Amino acid sequence: MRILVVEDEKKVANFIKHGLEEERYIVELAQDGITGLDIAMNNHFDAILLDVMLPGKDGFTLLREMRDAGISTPVVMLTARGNVEDRVTGLDLGADDYLPKPFSFEELAARLRSILRRSSPEKTTKLRCGDLILDTVSHLAYRQGREIELTTKEYALMEYLMRNKNRILSRSTITQHVWKHNFDPESNIIDVYIKRLRSKIEKDDIKPIIQSIRGVGYRMREMTSDD
Ligand code: CA
Repeated sequence: MRILVVEDEKKVANFIKHGLEEERYIVELAQDGITGLDIAMNNHFDAILLDVMLPGKDGFTLLREMRDAGISTPVVMLTARGNVEDRVTGLDLGADDYLPKPFSFEELAARLRSILRRSSPEKTTKLRCGDLILDTVSHLAYRQGREIELTTKEYALMEYLMRNKNRILSRSTITQHVWKHNFDPESNIIDVYIKRLRSKIEKDDIKPIIQSIRGVGYRMREMTSDD
């Protein structure tokens, strides 16, 4: 899952980025409102963490302009503690949640999981595809009881495929969700990672769980009793 963090305080921004990367998110930072809006308008994110007081353009203006442009990405506003007016303004402008500063990282991570669940058809913290299970809290995968360790990138890729199981995903769609925006579209890195993921999750399967769709991309397919 790809997250945009718009926060001008370097220390806070780096604290969030570091923590989210440990939670296996792909994180991009913007340190002012104008850059934040530009990145949000031109890239896909699964969620945005948005500070209110920002140089260039404040968080409320950024949110309003983004929503006016039809971008419905879930937004968590980072507001000042005790400032009811800010929270109400943010929610009325289309924020999905708010988090008063200072916050604990655990709470930030839980709220993020919560808004991501709301926008996903899967409402639990465990994603399933046949006998393959991905635990989005512990970041471990399991297949037939066997624990599978994943790197950050492998995890991000697998989570995206599982949240969209049975759907054909183009390479460019996968890129938009799992890689950073300065990624080279000509690179074959997705194929390399799919291969790595397959070697970890597939075991003597007659039909692969991750199917290659020639000329398009990939699909993680749920096994049926006919398989
Ligand atoms: Ca600020």
